[in-house]
Amino acid sequence: MLVVAQTLLVRLTVGHESQKQQERTEAVALEVASQVKQRLVRTQQGLQALMWAQPTPERWRAQAANTLREFPELRRIEWRLPNRAIKEAQDSPQHGPLFKQITRAEVDTDLTQACQSARRSDSPMFSRSFFIPFGIGQGLEVVDLCIPLQEAGQDIGYLVATVSLPGLLEAALPEDQSRSHEFSFIESDGARLARAGMPRGSGVYVAERVLDLPGSVLQLRVDSLAGRPSLIPNLTTALVLGLSLALFGMVMLLALDVRKRARTETALAEALAFRKAMEDSLITGLRARDLKGRVTYANPAFCQMVGHSPEALQGQDTPPYWPPEQVEHYRQRQGLRLDPTLGAGTQAREGFETVFMRSNGERFPVMIFEAPLLDNHGHHTGWMSAVLDISSQRRIEELSRQQQERLQATARLATVGEMASLLSHELNQPLAAIASYAAGSLNMADEPDGPALMREGLGHIADQAQRAGRVIKSVHDFVRRREQLRETMGVDLLFAAVQPLIALQARKSGAQIVIDLPAKVPRVVCDRTMLEQVLLNLARNGLQAMEGVLPTDARVLTLRARQTHERWVLISVIDAGSGIGPEVARQLFTPFFTTRPEGMGLGLSLCRTVVEQHGGQLDFESPAPGEEVGTVFRFTLASPVPKATLAPP
Ligand code: ADP
Repeated sequence: MLVVAQTLLVRLTVGHESQKQQERTEAVALEVASQVKQRLVRTQQGLQALMWAQPTPERWRAQAANTLREFPELRRIEWRLPNRAIKEAQDSPQHGPLFKQITRAEVDTDLTQACQSARRSDSPMFSRSFFIPFGIGQGLEVVDLCIPLQEAGQDIGYLVATVSLPGLLEAALPEDQSRSHEFSFIESDGARLARAGMPRGSGVYVAERVLDLPGSVLQLRVDSLAGRPSLIPNLTTALVLGLSLALFGMVMLLALDVRKRARTETALAEALAFRKAMEDSLITGLRARDLKGRVTYANPAFCQMVGHSPEALQGQDTPPYWPPEQVEHYRQRQGLRLDPTLGAGTQAREGFETVFMRSNGERFPVMIFEAPLLDNHGHHTGWMSAVLDISSQRRIEELSRQQQERLQATARLATVGEMASLLSHELNQPLAAIASYAAGSLNMADEPDGPALMREGLGHIADQAQRAGRVIKSVHDFVRRREQLRETMGVDLLFAAVQPLIALQARKSGAQIVIDLPAKVPRVVCDRTMLEQVLLNLARNGLQAMEGVLPTDARVLTLRARQTHERWVLISVIDAGSGIGPEVARQLFTPFFTTRPEGMGLGLSLCRTVVEQHGGQLDFESPAPGEEVGTVFRFTLASPVPKATLAPP
């Protein structure tokens, strides 16, 4: 484009220059043509002045000589008679006689015509131009001017002046123009008749003008000395201009680019600063490792966590935060995890738990989330991990577990306390029976068949003692059994375990207990002790809800179990009691909420915690109070996975 533009520029400049020069030449031609015309008019006036005073031949000659001196382009003046015979003639004093080689008569033809038409029109006329030879190869192109003379309406002859065409040009030319142009009169075929001006024209800028003289026509040609515009300076100018433009353009582009770069750099610096601030303010430890597992970067949080400076961490084959006793194990584990062929990176992203060591030797648990590090081209260059110190979380979990256990123990003891009165009532019966059997046996001792009756009595005593023992054992078992164990067992066993304890209370209120199990007894996975506690609490609540509201024979508590899904078992405790009003329902599971004067309000909240710990859900269904159709508390428990589905998916 630059080359095309420059070529165009050069062409335009050259064209413009040429046109300018041509116009100048045309203007010069116009000016010179008018100068020539004016000169001819002045010459004519000078000639006419010769005849004003009706001169004598001597005076005429003297005056003619003056006129010839005054107008150097005039070479000869003749005074002719009406028949055109020469009366007087005067040659230019500077140039001498004109007709040396030929006579005047030889070239009179054109003059005769001019004079005839001058006479006809009564005004001066020019003849055609003609050549007067001087010698070999020399001569002069001239034109004759014939002025008719009259006196009192009478033709008294003619004044004929011979005008030298080169002289005319010289006389008419302005000095300055003659230096830069060549002027000539030419014929219609282009042959030059006369020329003036110092130099020769270059022939490039030529202008021609036709000079209309009365009786004749002269063609003026102006040829400027100026040659064609030179290409080199124009080319150089264009080149300089083009290069300057290109340079300017490039500087502009560069400036734009620099500004863009500066903006990008600022944005980059800001982004970097932001990232740095973010990394520094993070409380999560960040660690980058290369493909060999060596630390390449650690943020302040990580350094603080393990208590080492970044320098101490970087580039170590064995990181200082690995507990020495675990180094071998960790190395193997790392080898597996960082091996990209095993696709281990994706597993690591889900997070894994391990133990690190602080600089003071303290071991602490951490959670690590790891992801592969990719560079700009997507090449895997290492691993980035987020490391969370979970020691405080572990402490809190432990604390909460202990509290939970303590709460459960307290609730259990509360239940036991409540049961103590029932227990005394329950033990009263066997003890009373034992006492009466013992008294009876003593009485029988003296009877003849005493030994046999005593043995029978002692048998009853032993039975009653065993019964009392069982009652006490069930309470003892309930309080003592504490280890948390998940075991798989039939629901029937679970019901059987709590039944004696529920029966204790049921007997007091005269309620009936119904165990409702399908033929195929569902099996559940549970912590037996905790589940017994739940059942016991729900059963006791149900019994309490029926006390005093229903006639004794209508008090029925049902324990039901159904397999609702191959993985789930639904257990319900159904009473026919007072139901639960919306006011109570809202706060039912809130700890320490109770409506009973002697209640603790912990039972249901505990039940819910236990059921949720088992992955189930505890809820209840109760119609509006007054309808007296009781309440259903139910929860789900996981069923053991059927053998068939244990195969890997
Ligand atoms: P507590 O038995 O010590 O009062 P719970 O948390 O076991 O504590 O029960 C809270 C309250 O819920 C009880 O006081 C009672 O008002 C109500 N409630 C629980 N179970 C039933 C039920 N089956 N029928 C009616 N109300 C019940």
